[in-house]
Amino acid sequence: MKLPICLFDAKNSLLCPQCEKKVEDGKLTKADVNASIILARLAKTNQEIDDFTLYSCKEFEGNFVLSLSKNDILTIRRSRVLYRLLQEQFQGKIWLVEAEENDKKFIEDMFFPTKVLSINSVWAPGGIQKTKAVISGKWTPRFPINMETVIQIVKNARNLDIEIEFENKRA
Ligand SMILES: [Zn+2]
Repeated sequence: MKLPICLFDAKNSLLCPQCEKKVEDGKLTKADVNASIILARLAKTNQEIDDFTLYSCKEFEGNFVLSLSKNDILTIRRSRVLYRLLQEQFQGKIWLVEAEENDKKFIEDMFFPTKVLSINSVWAPGGIQKTKAVISGKWTPRFPINMETVIQIVKNARNLDIEIEFENKRA
């Protein structure tokens, strides 16, 4: 397992002077530390989590964006049990994104498992550049993803203003 803090720190729920300094310097956040401790605890009884590489955890108003390796994300998506195990440990919704991915992939991960048909730059009135994502199907009140939350996370994590449109505009 690889984590943003030392493995020893995560396993013992404490921070060594080096990691403490990274938090003070803003290189690591409290969310990085807490997510590391959570994963280390789960790894004691879960071999799959023990193989994870966590790059970061960003918290936005009770949403936790976990940046993991591509393989880890595939592993979680294959197992509802594993997904629930992880989700239960966080005090808000978890969002899984691949580390070092581009903006397009990041947006696709936000909507998973719903398909994103296209992502393009568009010019909004006032000469503001926006990123328009077209989502497969049509919106219904049961759509599981909160659009406002996605817009905020993408803005915070990638500094992009996105506009979301559904393939079938008329419900
Ligand atoms: Zn440390």
